[in-house]
Amino acid sequence: MNFLFSVLKQLFQLIYIWFWEIFRLLFEDEFSDTIESESKTSNNNRVVNKLFHDNLWSPKARNYLLRRYSQKKLLILDLDETLVHSTPQPIDSHFQIKIKVFLDPKPCYLYVYKRPYLDIFLKHVCEWYDVAIFTASLNEYADPVIDFIDPEKKIKQRLFRDKCTPLNNTYTKNLNIFKRDLSSCIIIDNSPIAYSMNPQNAIPITTWMNYQDQKKDASLLVLLPFLEALRTVNDVRSILGFRLKNFN
Ligand SMILES: [Mg+2]
Repeated sequence: MNFLFSVLKQLFQLIYIWFWEIFRLLFEDEFSDTIESESKTSNNNRVVNKLFHDNLWSPKARNYLLRRYSQKKLLILDLDETLVHSTPQPIDSHFQIKIKVFLDPKPCYLYVYKRPYLDIFLKHVCEWYDVAIFTASLNEYADPVIDFIDPEKKIKQRLFRDKCTPLNNTYTKNLNIFKRDLSSCIIIDNSPIAYSMNPQNAIPITTWMNYQDQKKDASLLVLLPFLEALRTVNDVRSILGFRLKNFN
C-alpha cells in the first residue's frame, strides 16, 4: 500500500512538472516581450521557493525544480577570519563595530573588523547568488555581526554552531543541510576542516586576522571575477574539484 502511494505521489509530481513545462513553452515568448529577464528570474525563484517549502515534494523533485527554475546557485560563506575578525581586545582604533555579547554568561565586548572589500564583495555576490552564512560561532555573537555587515538583509540564510557537525574537538560543515543539489553549492571558508565533508564544493581563502600586514588584503576582491564566471557552470564541482586532482 505504501509502495503504491509512493508511486502515485511521484507520478503526480511528474505530471505537475510536465504541466508547468508545457505552460512555460506556450507562454514564454509572451513573457519575454513584456518582462525583463531579471524579473523573470525572481518570478521563477518565487515559484521555486514556494515549492521548495512544500513538504509534499520528494527531495529529488525539489532538487529538479530548483535546478530547472532557480537561476541562482547557493554561495555559503564562513564568517570569522573569512569575512570579519572579532577580538575582545581591539588591535587598533579602526574596528567598525563594538558588540556586547553574553557568552559566559557574563557580558563581554567584542571589537569587529571587516575584511577589506567586504562591502563590495557582498554587494555583488548577493546579486549573483543565493547567499548564506554558515558559521561555527554561536548565534548570540554571529547574529549582530551579520546584521551589521548586511544591513539590507540580502543574505538569505544564517546557520550557526548548532547546525555544524562536531569533528575531533572542532566543527565541520555538511552542505547537505541546505537540501540543495551539491552541483550548485559553493562554500568559501578559511578552515579546510570546515569543508572537509564537501571539498569539491570549496573555495579556500586565507585566514584574515587584521594583522598589520593584512590591512591591504584583497582576497575577497580577487574572488569576484571567478565567482561571476562560476555561477554559469552546470556543476561547480567540475571546476572547484580541479584543485584536488593529483597531477604527479
Ligand atoms: Mg573561519
